[in-house]
Amino acid sequence: MVAAFSLTFALLHLFFWAKEIKPRANLSFAAAAFAASVITIMELMAMKTASPEQMAALLRWVHLPVLVLSVGIIYFVRGYLASGRWWLAVTAIGLRCLALILSLTTGQSLFFKKVLGLKRITVLDGETVSLPLGSLNPWYFVGPLSVLALAAFVLDGAFTLWRRGTDSDRRRAVLFSATIFFFLITAVGHTWLVNSGAIDSPYIAGFSFVPILLAMFYELSCDMLHSVQLTDQLRLSEAELRNNKQRMKLAARAADLRLWEWDIVRDRIWSTDGIRSLYGLLPYQEIGLDHFLNMLYEEDRERVRGEIARALANNGHYESEYRIRIPEGRLHWFNSRGRVEFGENHQPLRMLGVTINITRRKQAELEAQQLRHEMTHLSRALLLGELSGSLAHELNQPLTSILSNAQAAQRFLARDPADLAEVRNVLTDIVEEDRRAAEIIRRLRALLKKGEAQRSAIDLNKTVHDVLKLVHSDLVNHTTTVHLALDPTLPSVLADRIQIQQVLLNLVMNACKAMIQTDVKERWLLIATTWNNADKIHVSVADQGPGIPAEDRKTVFTPFFTTKANGMGLGLSICRTLIAAQGGTIWATQNLPHGTVFHFTLPIFPEKKA
Ligand code: ADP
Repeated sequence: MVAAFSLTFALLHLFFWAKEIKPRANLSFAAAAFAASVITIMELMAMKTASPEQMAALLRWVHLPVLVLSVGIIYFVRGYLASGRWWLAVTAIGLRCLALILSLTTGQSLFFKKVLGLKRITVLDGETVSLPLGSLNPWYFVGPLSVLALAAFVLDGAFTLWRRGTDSDRRRAVLFSATIFFFLITAVGHTWLVNSGAIDSPYIAGFSFVPILLAMFYELSCDMLHSVQLTDQLRLSEAELRNNKQRMKLAARAADLRLWEWDIVRDRIWSTDGIRSLYGLLPYQEIGLDHFLNMLYEEDRERVRGEIARALANNGHYESEYRIRIPEGRLHWFNSRGRVEFGENHQPLRMLGVTINITRRKQAELEAQQLRHEMTHLSRALLLGELSGSLAHELNQPLTSILSNAQAAQRFLARDPADLAEVRNVLTDIVEEDRRAAEIIRRLRALLKKGEAQRSAIDLNKTVHDVLKLVHSDLVNHTTTVHLALDPTLPSVLADRIQIQQVLLNLVMNACKAMIQTDVKERWLLIATTWNNADKIHVSVADQGPGIPAEDRKTVFTPFFTTKANGMGLGLSICRTLIAAQGGTIWATQNLPHGTVFHFTLPIFPEKKA
């Protein structure tokens, strides 16, 4: 029964080993159980033995399965319980090997130098069994010694487990030390008593291994049970994961989102199907960064490469907008955002992110931009229309002067002899006046032109002077004086010259109109530029008009807000758009004792920042 029991466990755990379930532990357990069943069968055979030679042979070879059993236990304790000292294991195995060698080489077995005869005894149920009689082998002690070493190894392992402190470790420690003690007492002690003739009993070493087998079986079964529970949990988590994935997929599709991951170490980009089909990629085609960049529109490639490099070098935040020419030939706009995951030493490992197709938004933006552009131009044309009266007057001056100079030249030429020196002077004046007229027209044309906004480094103090030249006649007509407080240390600003002229023109003309009711002596405005070493410069236009009520100081910048009978209410709202487009802000405050101050800031040209 014991042999069958052990063999069943051996086969069961061999099966688990073959299925690769805890292969090391199951193989060692199967080997130990198999060895225990062989020992039991040999003990049974010994009971039935009829000749002393047969008994001697059985006792000689029984040390082979005992060696296998010892190795099985050691392997189990080391591999499964992860405890027990190596040197104790090696000592136990070494002694066990020695016992086998001595059993095969000295006397008839390790137990007996010679089995002299057989003793027949009657056991409980009345059956007779054989026991060996003979002279003991002087090397007998090697066997119990190896068992002692094995017991020491297992107890040491149990002690280590106990110290580790978790509940399951302590349970194992108690289980193992108890079964080993039982095994020691019964197997070694009982065999010794039988061999020495002290008691008349058949060998029961195989039986004494049963508790060890049971303990090992219990441990493995607990683990297997745990594995089954984990498998169930895993199955549940997998189902949950599948659901989440499905939900995420649906949400991503609904939001037109595409997910991607870039394995930076292996340079492999994974992405959801949406992107793949859009880029004309095959379902499982993995691509690297260069491949991806090559798919982008030529003009965007280097910029995106730079943005990725910056994300890797800095805080790992990546955001980019780029275009891709999809297979049908149209350009699509994408917005991509991602985060880099760093390993030790800030080494970038992977980047995860999402991409959205923003083509429609971009188109709307472009259209809006176009409309804004047209409106800005229109408002500029309107401003110049308002100025046209005074500009005509301004042009009239050089033209009149040219005419009178030309008439004078005619007179000088009509003299005999002609006064060529005077004619030369007159011609110089004509050229000068003509230049003045051409300059006025040039400035007008520049403002009327409908070009794209071009940001460059501009000198704001000079722009103020340019605008004042344009409105010069208007200021004279309104009997308005202009005071200037221009900061000579002002750095260049990064802006579009025409647009800044438009803003200044607007503010100056609004100020002039606001001061119509102001006493002529007080009708002056102050244009100031300042820079206090920050990254923005500050411009202000202050007038002595009636001022703007506090509650309207923000509203004046909204489109169509006007208090003038023939006003459009667009000037200031366009000013705000233009200043915001250059990266600045515009606002109004009260001027003391009366009037309004319009302020705006503009970012300085980047070189100056360094
Ligand atoms: P519009 O000149 O066509 O009315 P704006 O946008 O240029 O359009 O100005 C909007 C309104 O802001 C004006 O109608 C006026 O009430 C107010 N405003 C603008 N500048 C001044 C100023 N310097 N002083 C007082 N009110 C002003």
